[in-house]
Amino acid sequence: MKALHQILTGTLIYSTQRKKDLPPPTFTDRDLKEGLRRSWTAELIGHLLVKYESEWYADEALSKWNEIDELFEEEKQQQKALIEAGLDELGITEPYLRDFALDVVDEAHEHVKSNWQLEKAQRIKPSLWWKQVAQAQAQNPTANTEANIPKLSNLSADGKAWFIHPVAMVDYFAGNTVLFKKGDKDEIIREINIRLAGFGGNVPTDEFTERTENMIKQFQRDYMQVEETGVVDMNVIKAIDEFSVKYDLPSNEWVKKPPTDDEQMFCPCGLCDGFGKSRHKDMYYGVKLEATHRYEYPGIHRSLLWALKAVIFYLQKENSVYSFRKISSGYRCYDRNLQTNRRTTNHKGKALDIHFNKNGVRTRSCNDMNKLRKEIFNKYLGAKWDWLAGQENMFNLESSDIGATSWVHYDVREFDQIYLKDEYFCKDSATLNGKPLASLL
Ligand SMILES: [Zn+2]
Ligand SMILES: [Zn+2]
Repeated sequence: MKALHQILTGTLIYSTQRKKDLPPPTFTDRDLKEGLRRSWTAELIGHLLVKYESEWYADEALSKWNEIDELFEEEKQQQKALIEAGLDELGITEPYLRDFALDVVDEAHEHVKSNWQLEKAQRIKPSLWWKQVAQAQAQNPTANTEANIPKLSNLSADGKAWFIHPVAMVDYFAGNTVLFKKGDKDEIIREINIRLAGFGGNVPTDEFTERTENMIKQFQRDYMQVEETGVVDMNVIKAIDEFSVKYDLPSNEWVKKPPTDDEQMFCPCGLCDGFGKSRHKDMYYGVKLEATHRYEYPGIHRSLLWALKAVIFYLQKENSVYSFRKISSGYRCYDRNLQTNRRTTNHKGKALDIHFNKNGVRTRSCNDMNKLRKEIFNKYLGAKWDWLAGQENMFNLESSDIGATSWVHYDVREFDQIYLKDEYFCKDSATLNGKPLASLL
């Protein structure tokens, strides 16, 4: 912004001095060139606005301005170095954000160059150009009421033009530009609905619903600790990416243990790859309900695992005596059912059983499990108990009465089929986490 400020003051001084027929100010052509060169950097932090009198351009030889053309090209690499320094200063270290910024430099460079060519072309017939603009402005009385306040895409009423280079990157890095809000629809929204499922509960829809809004608010309140706006901006995107890494599952959870160890996320049957064999789609034990659907879903539902990240986060945030110990049971395929003489359908990708520590030691206490269910899963994940009517499309818990005495079982069995598509299930950490949201924008 320093460069921007320098250009603005410099050009204004120059104009004023000329009007008063005073000797040229210290701000010279060379300064202006330097300023324009540096303004290029400024663009990437803010919008570049160079104020000048249009007639001044007409008076001067265009050749002077042609010299600037070369500067644009020559200094691209130098600008990139400056941007990198700027990113360092802003503390932006993530490689994808840095790449993104440098890509924007390339784009901006092209944008500036083409705009610059247009500007120059327009200057050849400044009077014609000015007349057109003046007419356009006359039709829009609100456009330029204050001559000295820059307005994007407008010309000031005092006969001076704003030379504008809007660059998209600043909107992203500004952090608070609204990217998505209630009513929007986008694949990134689907990802957000999955990744923040543990903040109030949600289904993998691409729609920004009221639930999404509440979820964002909860995330802003509890994780980001900022004002709850309920909209997605770059700050939210970056916070979700940070949350993903910071509260990721311990990598050990993704290590397949031998079949003798039945306390793992993978199916311990010893016959499948750990997540069944996609058998029995649309086959039911009796009545046609998801609860009796025998399908071996291809992996664990991502919303479940992302919600587990939220569980880990909330326990830490509250300095709880409890902490996540392990996934004690994840997948159990048809063969595992045969081995154990069971008929589970939930644990074919739609359910997880979790063990918890209390003060660092495994607790089997039913009271502790009830506390965790109530004070974490119900309170923060919006989970309800035992699949009752009206509990569709939310996480459901198995109560201790039904059997979950020393562990917490939660599942997505009550999700509508459209939210149980194969693509929502994962078999590894990379598929669970996906790409950083910022890189998907
Ligand atoms: Zn198996
Ligand atoms: Zn279970």
